Amino acid sequence: MDDNILELFALPIGLHQVRVINNIPLYGSQTLNDKFIQAASETRRGKYIFSTIKKMVDQKKIIPCFADQGLISHFRRRISKDTSGGLMRILRSLVFATKPIQHPLDYVLAFYDFQDDNITLLISNHISDNKVFESSVANTAIINSLTHEMMHMFSHIQPNKFINLFKDELNSYYTYVLTKIFKLKDDKNLKKEVEQFYKFLFFKIEMINTNVPMSEMLTRLKRFQKFSKLNEEEFTSVSVDYMKLTRLLYTNDLADAIPLLTPYKYIITQLYSAYKETFGRVPSKGCTQELYFPSEVICGYSDVRFDGKIKRALTSII
Ligand SMILES: [Zn+2]
Repeated sequence: MDDNILELFALPIGLHQVRVINNIPLYGSQTLNDKFIQAASETRRGKYIFSTIKKMVDQKKIIPCFADQGLISHFRRRISKDTSGGLMRILRSLVFATKPIQHPLDYVLAFYDFQDDNITLLISNHISDNKVFESSVANTAIINSLTHEMMHMFSHIQPNKFINLFKDELNSYYTYVLTKIFKLKDDKNLKKEVEQFYKFLFFKIEMINTNVPMSEMLTRLKRFQKFSKLNEEEFTSVSVDYMKLTRLLYTNDLADAIPLLTPYKYIITQLYSAYKETFGRVPSKGCTQELYFPSEVICGYSDVRFDGKIKRALTSII
């Protein structure tokens, strides 16, 4: 247990321990749960999924915890490390509060624990008198981060339903990305290959969370060669870049990987453009995991759009 972290966390009276992560105890209270549910119900998104959220809190699938800035930033680093190990997913939703201390993300951090199958929601208590719940922008930030993590949860507990429900979106997104980076020609058989490819990413990489099966990835990528305007040498070089970038992002903290990303900018750019093209907007989170985690595409989609499909997915979690 890191003493600094313990010091940073002043335990208000009446709280009880609700979770321990990396040996750090986290505290919540019935009042926090009630206030969180109340705050969620007052947001535009929360109205539609209110009863699901309430049930998930009751069943400890969503665990609201008090935190402070130090604890939140500690977990943000820890989690992004664990993400590469595949156990947790980091939230990167911007929080627009009136007076950010240093960074808007200091207010809230939500993450989905793949193994425990629950969402921890760290809510900053740095503002006295629970002002965090009095600001509608902060409430919106909380609900947006929560829905992002709930989409990850949905995809992991109902993988087949996830793939079927978001087939069109995944087809469009990955067709765009692959077409751009491999200079593919339009072809009636392309769609099927694209579908096979993201299913491979989802079922063999994202859902399994061990090492990336590189030789299978190469075999899968090679199947796009017949649609490509690139010559064989160029095509192979792009395939190798796709795999190197996947490995780089998969095995490193994003912060450590950033300085090494320059040669792959031509690929990463397309992960952003594909959002604009497919969903009309680019989410405010960074886009990299989309390269090998298809659920991230749909979580990004849920960041920018909250339509019938997203609602249907979210309300079928529990
Ligand atoms: Zn995510």
